[in-house]
Amino acid sequence: MSHHLYQAAIVGAGPIGIELAVAMKQAGIDYIHFDARQIGHTISWYAPQTRFFSSNERIAIAGIPLVTPDQQKATREQYLAYLRSVVEQFDLPIHTYEPVIDIERQTDYFRLTTRTQAREKTYQAGRLILATGGTDRPRMLGVEGEHLPHVSHYLADPHQYFRKKVLIVGGKNSAVEAALRCHHVGARVTFCYRKPQLAEQSIKYWLLPEFKSLIKTGQIRAYLNSHVRRITTTQTILSVETGPDLAVEADFVLLMTGYEQDATLLRRVGVKLEGPQQKPWYDSETMQTNVNGLYVAGTAVGGTQDKYTVFIENCHVHVQRIMKHAFGVDITTPGLATASLSPES
Ligand SMILES: Cc1cc2nc3c(=O)[nH]c(=O)nc-3n(C[C@H](O)[C@H](O)[C@H](O)COP(=O)(O)OP(=O)(O)OC[C@H]3O[C@@H](n4cnc5c(N)ncnc54)[C@H](O)[C@@H]3O)c2cc1C
Repeated sequence: MSHHLYQAAIVGAGPIGIELAVAMKQAGIDYIHFDARQIGHTISWYAPQTRFFSSNERIAIAGIPLVTPDQQKATREQYLAYLRSVVEQFDLPIHTYEPVIDIERQTDYFRLTTRTQAREKTYQAGRLILATGGTDRPRMLGVEGEHLPHVSHYLADPHQYFRKKVLIVGGKNSAVEAALRCHHVGARVTFCYRKPQLAEQSIKYWLLPEFKSLIKTGQIRAYLNSHVRRITTTQTILSVETGPDLAVEADFVLLMTGYEQDATLLRRVGVKLEGPQQKPWYDSETMQTNVNGLYVAGTAVGGTQDKYTVFIENCHVHVQRIMKHAFGVDITTPGLATASLSPES
């Protein structure tokens, strides 16, 4: 056990946790920083070459320009390289692969327990900032066969699906993007969505026309108003509104049905969670939760988002608010000027 009392601990080294770490380092705060996995873990599980829909200047952090060689929106690879370069440039000490597994509020500090490969460790910090994101685990359908090896909630490298039958379940951007990428790599794609219409506002505007045209011309088979009943090693049984159950043959089943926040730590330390999305309660001026000294930053504030409204670009301001309230440090946050603009532009 370390008896050192840090001024602050940051949990989570996604873009916003890193942006906060830069601010703390520049302000001379004695802080400690953890990530359960590698930095940018959430982005690392996007399929290779996935492009952000946000423009580069909106997802740039800590005042460091994000420049792409082709002037296009950054890919997963370019953004991860950028995050690494920010960490290098500021020489940020981050305890990666060290999940925080427990937090206890003591009278005037927090006691954090972490788990490294070797053992459990404890640390003490006066302020605690949870920048732990909101997409910790997939939203399960709860159907038979969901755990079979050919079923996944994540799009892998599309190469894997070449000349294979792929069933894609979902109706928002990730499902449509997966369908297009699988189609273009030479997979035979079937698409299934439980609602009568796609969630068009959630789909990247440049993907929708092509997707609709591929359905119209029969190059992608689509079943709307249809539900997955069960999955076997060779077939997925769909109940469709218009007739009897349907068996769709599939080598791979991609359940692109969204992701959920793991609110275990928030609950354990006594943060109030509100509404159907189980959003942590916080004061929007300061980002402090109902637990004195405990702040939330980044997409963690959105709980489990159904329709995504909290993005990197409207979270930069959290850094400024936390630095001001927790440490009395005034900073101007890069990205703030663009925070109210829509992500697509
Ligand atoms: C395909 C795809 C495309 C996307 N495109 C965009 C886009 O264009 N623009 C945009 O703004 N957003 C986009 N997003 C969402 C984007 O990934 C998030 O907005 C962004 O990662 C949020 O940053 P964050 O710092 O708030 O949290 P995250 O990046 O989610 O970081 C949270 C970190 O906390 C760590 N963590 C969690 N629990 C613990 C624990 N107990 N102990 C230690 N560490 C912990 C995790 O390992 C993770 O590294 C996209 C998402 C997907 C899936």
